[in-house]
Amino acid sequence: MKTSDKVVFVTIDDGAEKDPKFVEMLTDLKVPVSMFLTRDIVKDDYGYFKRLQALGNHVHNHTVDHAQLSKVPPEKQKSEICDAQAALTQQYGTPPLLFRPPYGDGANTPALNTSVQQCGPRAVVLWRESMQIHDMQYQAADKKLRPGDIVLAHFRGPKDLKGETMTQMFGELLARIQEQGFAVARLEDYIGAPAA
Ligand SMILES: [Zn+2]
Repeated sequence: MKTSDKVVFVTIDDGAEKDPKFVEMLTDLKVPVSMFLTRDIVKDDYGYFKRLQALGNHVHNHTVDHAQLSKVPPEKQKSEICDAQAALTQQYGTPPLLFRPPYGDGANTPALNTSVQQCGPRAVVLWRESMQIHDMQYQAADKKLRPGDIVLAHFRGPKDLKGETMTQMFGELLARIQEQGFAVARLEDYIGAPAA
């Protein structure tokens, strides 16, 4: 995202971990996040993410079942996006504005761009840094954040974080961002509202 502000954007994917303490944490800290949800990973508890949505956070499309999109035929690619778009729109009351392909796979291919356009999301969003457990993986060789970077994190719990909780991981993420002098801004504020 192009900006000269010293901000980064935090995106959280999939939706496996549904830790109530994370809702409390975001309620207290008021840090904006963007959620890229996979329908079949969140459908057992859509309500959890409604609590995060109620804090002003937006829900975006991350397919039906986390398929690797370059490996599936075009019809399946389209249903992965369109069916998730329909379910998330129904649950969260507003159509997801953005789409992120699982693993970033298939991004910038004409087939995927066409499917995304037909299903409704306005843009495909990837990432620059990826949060692990204690620190981020950087694409930049100097391991420094740049203004407007999009950071990828996941709804993950102790099973995937070597015993750390979602809130511990997120606390470390915020510390890594702040110690580089950056603030977290809301991605959707910088993207702008779609034309009506
Ligand atoms: Zn994912």
